[in-house]
Amino acid sequence: MNAELNETQRAVLRALCDTFVPSLKVSNDPSGFWARAASDLGVDCVLARNLKEDVPPPLYNGLVGLLDGLAAKGFVNASQARREGLLSQIARSSPQGAQGVGFYQKQTVLLAYGLPENPVPDRNMVTYGSPKGQNPNWEVMNYPGPVSVPPDKPKQIQTWTPTGDSQTLEADVCVVGSGAGGAVIASRMAARGLRVLVLEAGGHYNAADFHQLELWGYKHLWYKGGATPTADGNVLLLAGGSLGGGTEINWMNCVRTPPLVREDWARQYGLQGVDTAEFDGYQDEVERRIQANQQTAYWNAQNLRMREGCQKLGYLSKQTFVNWDPKLFQPLMAGYTGFGDQTGGKQTARRTYLLDAYRSGAQIIVHCRAERILVAQGRAAGVEATYADPRGRRTKLTIRAPQVVAAGGSLESPALLLRSGIGGPNVGKYLRVQPGGAVYGVYEEKQKGWWGSPMTTNCEQFTNTGGGFGFYMEIPAFGPGFVASVIPWVNGRQHKEMMTKVPYISTFIWFLRDKGSGRVAVDAAGNSMPTYQLSDETDQKNFRHAASEAIRIHEAAGAREIMVSLASQQLIWKRGQNLEGFIKNVAAQPIINGAQPMISAHQLCTCRMGKDPDTSVADTNGELRDVKGVWIGDGSACPTALGANPMVTIMALAERTASKMAGAAQQNRGARAGAASPPRRESEAARSGQAASADNSARGPAAGVPEGANLIELDTRPGQAERVLQIISGQVLPNIIRPAAGFIDLIVMHSLDDPHRLTSVSFWENPEYAERFQSGGFLQSTELIKDLLAAPPRRLPYTVAASLNRRARGRAGAPSPDRFPGPDANAITDAAGNVLRGMVELMNPATMLREMTGIMTNPLNMFSLGQRLLTGSVRQPRQGRGGAADTPRPSPGGGAAAARGGAAPAPRFADLLELDARPGQAGAMVDIIAGSTGRPGGRPNDGLIDVVVLQSMADPNRVTAISFWENRESSTRFDAGWSGWLGDSLTGVLAAPPRRRAYTVAASTIPSIGGSGRQ
Ligand SMILES: Cc1cc2nc3c(=O)[nH]c(=O)nc-3n(C[C@H](O)[C@H](O)[C@H](O)COP(=O)(O)OP(=O)(O)OC[C@H]3O[C@@H](n4cnc5c(N)ncnc54)[C@H](O)[C@@H]3O)c2cc1C
Repeated sequence: MNAELNETQRAVLRALCDTFVPSLKVSNDPSGFWARAASDLGVDCVLARNLKEDVPPPLYNGLVGLLDGLAAKGFVNASQARREGLLSQIARSSPQGAQGVGFYQKQTVLLAYGLPENPVPDRNMVTYGSPKGQNPNWEVMNYPGPVSVPPDKPKQIQTWTPTGDSQTLEADVCVVGSGAGGAVIASRMAARGLRVLVLEAGGHYNAADFHQLELWGYKHLWYKGGATPTADGNVLLLAGGSLGGGTEINWMNCVRTPPLVREDWARQYGLQGVDTAEFDGYQDEVERRIQANQQTAYWNAQNLRMREGCQKLGYLSKQTFVNWDPKLFQPLMAGYTGFGDQTGGKQTARRTYLLDAYRSGAQIIVHCRAERILVAQGRAAGVEATYADPRGRRTKLTIRAPQVVAAGGSLESPALLLRSGIGGPNVGKYLRVQPGGAVYGVYEEKQKGWWGSPMTTNCEQFTNTGGGFGFYMEIPAFGPGFVASVIPWVNGRQHKEMMTKVPYISTFIWFLRDKGSGRVAVDAAGNSMPTYQLSDETDQKNFRHAASEAIRIHEAAGAREIMVSLASQQLIWKRGQNLEGFIKNVAAQPIINGAQPMISAHQLCTCRMGKDPDTSVADTNGELRDVKGVWIGDGSACPTALGANPMVTIMALAERTASKMAGAAQQNRGARAGAASPPRRESEAARSGQAASADNSARGPAAGVPEGANLIELDTRPGQAERVLQIISGQVLPNIIRPAAGFIDLIVMHSLDDPHRLTSVSFWENPEYAERFQSGGFLQSTELIKDLLAAPPRRLPYTVAASLNRRARGRAGAPSPDRFPGPDANAITDAAGNVLRGMVELMNPATMLREMTGIMTNPLNMFSLGQRLLTGSVRQPRQGRGGAADTPRPSPGGGAAAARGGAAPAPRFADLLELDARPGQAGAMVDIIAGSTGRPGGRPNDGLIDVVVLQSMADPNRVTAISFWENRESSTRFDAGWSGWLGDSLTGVLAAPPRRRAYTVAASTIPSIGGSGRQ
């Protein structure tokens, strides 16, 4: 963290911000826009905080030096005109001066037009759809700001959180980066049953986090917190930086790899199959998975302008394909997609391939930056990484993996290889950025650039202007701060004037298939340092050509003014003036050394594949030449620029690389199978990272996806516990829980310590099902009982770590259920016998009549009959009011047991122990509990029915053990004794004294556990 600014520096900063966005007097200023200075919105305060917290120290020193220099020149007390003069003098004096002034100018306008009035993006504090939480400058831009609150949606992926100062993990494949390329490879490898670990430097966000606020989006979802210049200041780089990478923020234009590029890659670079049906197949598969479709490619005003202009000029324009799920598409929300999609319809890598990977058992760690790739005997040996959570806690990770995929994007993958000293001399060379520019047209009608899918018209007339190179023209998404920052600032008045035209502006952008290249190097600390100059003649010609055509298309579409931005000047054409003369003037402007603003959203080729070792980093399969087992899995593997939006190509290429990797991984596994430790079924191994305790590498092999468990605590209103139980047993269980996919069992317990507390544990085939239930069924269930509750239900997600009960089986592997000495060995045979005997009993007409009537009276009785068949109680005479059609006693403790309709069996008791393990010791704790359950007093303990040990998914150090007992006596005996024998064993791993809670089992679907009436 940098030092605070002193008072003089703060005063200069305020004056500087108010020079870029000044308070000006105009005769007609109804919204106060002209009178409002940057500091009225607190821009100087936010900028001071950013300087302190976010700016790297060398840059900070230069920027603060500039403030000191301005102070010495009397900047604070100078007039607006004098201040503007001083700034232009400094900008012309040196490149550093220009960079410093440029930094403050861009940041000031970004904040002045991007900050919500209340800058805290908190759904409880920002009021949507009202002037509060809006930026007052949005009114003049006609920008509505956020249109809806984030939905309350749970995350579908549970990432894994490392603990302690250092950890060692094991995987078959470690994927660095979770963007377009990395996500595809992770999913394919995990689907093959390999243990996959994905490391992502950014955070994990979903719809519930997305506020439709631009600055929040940049900070959390974009690479380096938003548009960031190359080290030489020539190009503004846009890229993704959270789980899902660029696909999380991109504009969803799905373009297949141009045929001429495919031919070039096959012919010149030796990439076999990319010009054949094989690669078509990969692209088809990608388009299917991300739902590329035209239904959602609505034309908003901006896209219509380009389409109309192209049609008038006879230029080839096409409606795009967009990766929105048509079922979830909402045009009003689509325009905010660069700041995170609230609808859940955008088919990002996070929502598609990464989710697939996760469901196949891949483990994902976010806030985790790969520092370097480890090499042993010339082969990949793993990755060294640093996990750093947002609160500053750090864990050093060593991942042992024989296959490593570099998929950090074209700006970061080369830096990773360079830090690791691998990849050869071409790493970082050949950086293509598909540089782009923009031309603005001012129309008579408002254009509303934020409405609808942003990019739905492609102008493809100029994709090959000669030699296979050319440019693509499209429409960008809208962000108020971003628009303000790309409009050149000449002086305070001119910039404000431009902002008043924003509602009427359509922006046309283009990007080149660049022939020339830049480079990614690393600084002394190993950070990526990209540089790029548009020095190739073909590229310069195409850039100028593109600007000329954008002007022509605007004119044809009816623009009344057309504006071209230079670094600090705007060239303007007005209808009636000579168009070709204007185009000539634009084409004559200097183009290099930052003379014209250039933007790149497509960085490529920095670790490219190819057959020639002198001009490539990876071989034609994507594997490094010098270190086998290291694969290039992202856009950096492309041999050349594409001249098209790259997402589909990167994903299809990753499909291809994954299929090449599969063969190698198989061979490698074979080799390991012969080694000392037995091979394991990998997808769970990645998951066992869930339980990856202090030293995962020392942990035994896992052999089954752990079951999931939802523990829900319900505090009822006084006297309402029984009614809640009734509803759970009679409505929630049969209608909501039991039909849910993946459901195994439910146990509802009634607290003996607090008569208003019910705790239910449901078991699911895997954590995914448990999670899925949370997003629908849980809410439905809560709806039925909410009026009887004193507080909202608290849900705690768990995996089943070990279990004596064969239906709720524990995670196989170290804490194996088979390691519990259990009374359940003959359960299956017993059950079969019971069913047989029950069936014979049912042949008795009286019994059959009784049962059928029972079922007709309450369908839940069907379930109870099944249970009684299993437990052998079908013959039991009924109690109660008598008669064949006894309806189940609804409560107390009604539940499934009461629903059985027979005599309420003796109540079962449950002990719930909450145990906090020392960091990383949860796995050891599970083992100890599993191993100790049989002791003392015989195997098993007298009266012990079952034990289920759960490991929290929210807190990896939390273990909850629930034991079930025949009667209260056994339970009490256990309670008195456990702290002796079990407590002693746990001394080394416990972080705090265990918390015990006593229950009766009120309802359950597990015959052995029963669901008794209450004591
Ligand atoms: C604003 C914008 C709009 C775009 N619009 C489109 C569009 O409409 N259509 C289209 O086809 N393309 C579009 N793109 C481009 C497309 O999204 C990218 O080309 C693509 O996502 C790049 O994929 P990748 O796998 O190379 O890297 P990325 O998707 O960038 O993923 C790399 C990931 O790796 C992580 N990472 C980096 N270094 C490390 C490290 N050391 N350790 C761990 N993690 C690391 C990063 O945080 C990032 O999440 C757009 C891009 C942007 C920025």
